[in-house]
Amino acid sequence: MKRIAVFPGSFDPFTLGHDDIVKRALPLFDHVIIAIGVNASKKYHFPLELRMEWIGKVFATEEKVSVKKYEGLTVDFCRGNGANFILRGLRSNVDFEFEKPIAHMNTAMANEIETVFLVTSPELSGINSTIVRDIIKNGGNASQFLPKEIEI
Ligand code: ADP
Repeated sequence: MKRIAVFPGSFDPFTLGHDDIVKRALPLFDHVIIAIGVNASKKYHFPLELRMEWIGKVFATEEKVSVKKYEGLTVDFCRGNGANFILRGLRSNVDFEFEKPIAHMNTAMANEIETVFLVTSPELSGINSTIVRDIIKNGGNASQFLPKEIEI
């Protein structure tokens, strides 16, 4: 059986922190699906299609990575895509406390799907999509926090 992981998130925008998690996950899995969650009640800064296009550019030559969008439960998306793993990144104890009940509830709903956490590389743990968006909204240059393929 192929080891397929889903990396769910908003990726608004996709940063070097996200990139690091995906690259470090590649030796662990046969395929990583970067899955952009679409939540009707949540406001996003960058349009969905642009976020997908950027991620597609970053992994254009990496056959083991694909990008998809989804609505609804992450576990349902995993089942629909034959994935047995949910991948998430941990920057701090705050991330851990946020992620823990989600992982427990996902396990309660789908016992066959394991959540796997990778700890962020220390030099990237300060990167946060919210702050990157604020820099961009205020006319700053956020390129040092973004993969080179993403030019904003
Ligand atoms: P969400 O809205 O679901 O939190 P994000 O796009 O903010 O989506 O984050 C997606 C995943 O990437 C989460 O697991 C988050 O912890 C992780 N992540 C975000 N920033 C970083 C970073 N700098 N380094 C590593 N992981 C990160």
